[in-house]
Amino acid sequence: MKKRIDLTGRQFGDLMVISKADSKEKGRFWNARCTCGKEMVVRQSDLKNQRITSCGHEENKATVVAAPKAKVEKKKATPASGSTGYVGVKQVELKSGTRYKANISVQGKNKHLGTFDTLEEAIAVRKEAEALYR
Ligand SMILES: [Zn+2]
Repeated sequence: MKKRIDLTGRQFGDLMVISKADSKEKGRFWNARCTCGKEMVVRQSDLKNQRITSCGHEENKATVVAAPKAKVEKKKATPASGSTGYVGVKQVELKSGTRYKANISVQGKNKHLGTFDTLEEAIAVRKEAEALYR
């Protein structure tokens, strides 16, 4: 008497064998459930040879996985906000209106020179500071 292999509960790749399938075809077939939830009938030899290890959803899965990778992170194309075109002078928007902040880098440290109502003032102070710290 031939020993019958019971594959119930066995896992073959993404396929989990649920039960033996009835088939008029030659060979032994098993009902298997894929990790994606799809159920299918698989020939026993295909399972054992690992010719079939999923319902075939892998291609779909691959495209889904690839999609987020293709998504390019938005580049911060916004121009440096507050840029006045003058080094060390930054435009700032306050509730009271637009102000201009002047800064200067002294020995690697950022020194705040003040906040001014006009760009001209800020530039003037920045220039003074440049002369002072040079
Ligand atoms: Zn599947």
